[in-house]
Amino acid sequence: MEEPFITRRQLFGKTMAAAAGVAAAGTAAWAARLASTHRPPRTFSDLIPADNPHVREAAFWKTACHGVQCELCPFGCFLPEGSRGICKVRMNSAGRLVTMVYGHPVSVHLDPIEKKPVFHLLPGSLIYSLAAAGCNLRCSFCQNWEISQAHPEEASGKTMVPRELRILAVSGGRAQAQVLADETATLAPEEVVKAALATRCRSIAYTYSEPAVFYEYVRDIAALAKKAGLRNVMVTAGYINPKPLAELAPLFDVVKVDLKGFDEGFYRRMVGGELRFVLRTLSELRRHKVLTEVVNLVVPTLNDDPAQLKALAAWVRANLGPDTPLFFSRFQPQYKVQNIPPTPVATLTLARDLAMREGLRYVYVGNAPGHPGEHTYCPKCRQVMVRRQGYLVLENRISASGRCPNDGTRIPGIWG
Ligand code: SF4
Repeated sequence: MEEPFITRRQLFGKTMAAAAGVAAAGTAAWAARLASTHRPPRTFSDLIPADNPHVREAAFWKTACHGVQCELCPFGCFLPEGSRGICKVRMNSAGRLVTMVYGHPVSVHLDPIEKKPVFHLLPGSLIYSLAAAGCNLRCSFCQNWEISQAHPEEASGKTMVPRELRILAVSGGRAQAQVLADETATLAPEEVVKAALATRCRSIAYTYSEPAVFYEYVRDIAALAKKAGLRNVMVTAGYINPKPLAELAPLFDVVKVDLKGFDEGFYRRMVGGELRFVLRTLSELRRHKVLTEVVNLVVPTLNDDPAQLKALAAWVRANLGPDTPLFFSRFQPQYKVQNIPPTPVATLTLARDLAMREGLRYVYVGNAPGHPGEHTYCPKCRQVMVRRQGYLVLENRISASGRCPNDGTRIPGIWG
């Protein structure tokens, strides 16, 4: 068949169209090949499968420019899509703030309550103690840095969970017991309360890492525990905003606040936070009438200046009252602070003396077994009311109504 006559211009147009078609097909194939061999850049969102049971919408946040703002702690992190807060466990996922550690404890133990240390709640009792990963502070001397400074992904495995405590035999006032435990990655609030009751604990502690940053889990467990007749204890660095704290306060019987020093420079350098916010938390707890115990870890050369220890005690006396239990605890080399020796016992004794001279009635020494500062004394007759040796309670003379048997002086706390 005869070819139709075409002009040179028509021939040029046809040639260009054919070339464009080949180029388009080539580009599509190239793009398909690239997509199959190169994944797009990963974001933190990719790390969270939609069905992750530990991810829940968080409390206390608002939409802010190009993301969300967390309102749980004084940092008030602004978080664009896919990014996490300083605590590493709260993130912006698709425009919502989520917690990534709900129902996912990384450490669960049965502890003597003296280990917290909490001295004015049910001495000698067992406390069901648990932690999730994360903390909003960065203490260089953290004792639990493996979990407090971990990302949830680093602590995503299973944890041994005590489920039941069986008494096998009792002789000479001592019980032989067996703890039944199993491994799990997920522990719902109802299961925590059930396990606490089955292991004969009288209270639950949110402890080891920073409970403020696993707030939603703490709140839900604490509400169920209170209904079940258990006591709630939070062991915290106190870095939380007043509004979330106000919602937790009615659920708690004791809050133990780790007041790490009494100098803003020390807090900024060694703790990664600001002292004024911790003092605000302590004042708020007083306003909410929550029994508060304060502990200060005395680290040689860093926060052991007698003037600073005296000022700390004076602040506690003036703002929380003379009945506030205050502990001075012994430092052992930890985490990034390996070059400083343990606190001399004489320093702890001096700190205790200074605090008692400031008018505090219940001042203790921690991590120094055998020290007379382990006992609770009646402030009137000066007799030992609770005699301790390390985590052991050797004697408790305080009546269930909280009074000294000698002179009826009321000792603040929950004793029966
Ligand atoms: S709780 Fe975490 S995310 Fe929220 S403000 Fe504090 S550090 Fe930031």
